[in-house]
Amino acid sequence: MFRTRGLLKRTSLTTNTIQTSTNTTTTRGRKASKVPHVCIIGSGPAGFYTAQQILKSHASARVDMYERLPVPFGLVRYGVAPDHPEVKNCINTFTQMASNPRFSFLGNVSVGVDGDSGIPLTQLRSAYHAVVMSYGSSRDRTLNIPGECLPNVVSARRLVGWYNGLPEDTDLDVDLGVESVVVVGQGNVAVDVARILLTPLDALRKTDIPEAVLNRLSESRVRRVTLVGRRGPQHVAFTIKELREMIKLPGCQPHLNPHHYTHLRDIIPDLPRPHKRLLELLAKTGLDPANPNNLAATHTSAQRTWSLSFLRSPIQVLASEHQAVTGIKLAINRLEGEPGRERAVTNTETEVMECGLVLRSIGYQGVSIHPSIPFNDNTATIQHIDSRVMGLEGMYVSGWIDWGSVGVFQYESITACHHDFTGMYVSGWIGTGPVGVILSTMTSGFSTGKAVVADMDSGRLDISEDKPGQDYIRDLLAQKGVRAVSFNEWSTLNRHEETEGARLGKPREKVTSISAMLKLMNH
Ligand code: FAD
Ligand code: NAP
Repeated sequence: MFRTRGLLKRTSLTTNTIQTSTNTTTTRGRKASKVPHVCIIGSGPAGFYTAQQILKSHASARVDMYERLPVPFGLVRYGVAPDHPEVKNCINTFTQMASNPRFSFLGNVSVGVDGDSGIPLTQLRSAYHAVVMSYGSSRDRTLNIPGECLPNVVSARRLVGWYNGLPEDTDLDVDLGVESVVVVGQGNVAVDVARILLTPLDALRKTDIPEAVLNRLSESRVRRVTLVGRRGPQHVAFTIKELREMIKLPGCQPHLNPHHYTHLRDIIPDLPRPHKRLLELLAKTGLDPANPNNLAATHTSAQRTWSLSFLRSPIQVLASEHQAVTGIKLAINRLEGEPGRERAVTNTETEVMECGLVLRSIGYQGVSIHPSIPFNDNTATIQHIDSRVMGLEGMYVSGWIDWGSVGVFQYESITACHHDFTGMYVSGWIGTGPVGVILSTMTSGFSTGKAVVADMDSGRLDISEDKPGQDYIRDLLAQKGVRAVSFNEWSTLNRHEETEGARLGKPREKVTSISAMLKLMNH
């Protein structure tokens, strides 16, 4: 099989001319700058850890962080499950770092293409010595099957945004007046959404789920959630902590088919430790569900259930004549390929699983924010080598690609060309792809920060020219009638949310509309 999808174009970004409202200033030939200006796009963990590394290892560099929302922290605020508050503790480190006088947060500023209401990437390139793109993966992968656009077929990404109070998902149209839910995918996001739908409301009331969402959840009739995987139990992508939580969920019982788990005992001994422990727990639960954690008491009164289905690929979402989802048609798969790297291959046999809501949870996806960026459509990431953005000339894909299941590419005639992208870096999910936890994103952020400082020190990055940094960008924003939100203004909103939360007996009550946020910040 041969495909040429993913050919990357070599493009160029003009970087050395700044246009202001009154004049055009060529930055070449000015006195050497003692203050390198770095801008970071995106305020998730990748952005904050990159900033932390740069500020720590360079004595005078200034870091400005641009964020499209008026509030910081990316998926830590809007992705991490509300019943996992301990995961959000990294916010304390970020907040402490934000008090560094060489750091600025500019919220409510989207970076994009020329002509957008936000700031064009080209202007940031002109105003800063280095630009770090750490804007995450803001879309999700699609199944591309008939029925995917029906009303109650919802992406897990949007459901997550909804229960976390993300402004753009506040009005999500999801009907929870159904008994059975199918989640396509078996990663940690799939488990997160299943757990939130199955957790007793009293427990959720103690989290920062917005009151409006809690009201909707209080009317939920969901009783059964099935997580459908295209491969086998040995390929589940969720981790042991999340599985343990599902097993211990009060009032909820796993309904697992023992036949799926008998063969696991043969393959477990040869696996690396974390995978081994996960599959041991899965096998134990599947083969003897009452035993693993002495859960008999929890399960006796169970009114809700969850289950796992394997070797099934969705081929159509079925609906009534009134467009109500009635089920999902699944192809039955077999596995092909060497052990550990098996791919799902669809058979002709199919089956129908009844349900009233389908949640698609097959991974997130990055987007390009400017046509000049060397963006790999196959991986939906910005092309880079060691965090440095690189154009790849004459890059073709050869051989069979199934990036969804094994992620293997074979390239021929790759020639790196980096002269057009000097001073551009990536950090976090937009460079690595949407995999990994905050810890791995921290590693990515630190590597990028080190690369930026190493390039300043080595002269690879020219910091001798004066660059205006945020002063210039603030002028541009003023022309567009946009005022950036500062970290202090976010702190005001933060205090408001915490006060409201305390009144309701929860950590915070999030403000979910951008206009209300700006008003509360006296913007
Ligand atoms: P993000 O966190 O997505 O940050 C990107 C930021 O860029 C956002 O604030 C976004 O608004 C901003 N942005 C986007 N476009 C623009 C633009 N054009 N201009 C300006 N700003 C822009 N990891 C754990 O360790 N524990 C967990 O429990 C956990 N739970 C998770 C739950 C979910 C649902 C998901 C999806 C992930 C979870 N993770 C968890 C993984 C963790 O969230 C990621 O590793 C991490 O957030 C990736 O960081 P990032 O900075 O690359 O991207
Ligand atoms: P993920 O871990 O990559 O899981 C995606 C799931 O979708 C896999 O089961 C995958 O199966 C399946 N899938 C992909 N394409 C498919 C297709 N076309 N048809 C059917 N199934 C398909 O992604 P995620 O769940 O979105 O999580 C993203 C990252 O965030 C992960 O690294 C995750 O660990 C992390 N995260 C962590 C936590 C936590 O620590 N608590 C919580 C949430 C998220 P295959 O294996 O067959 O491809």
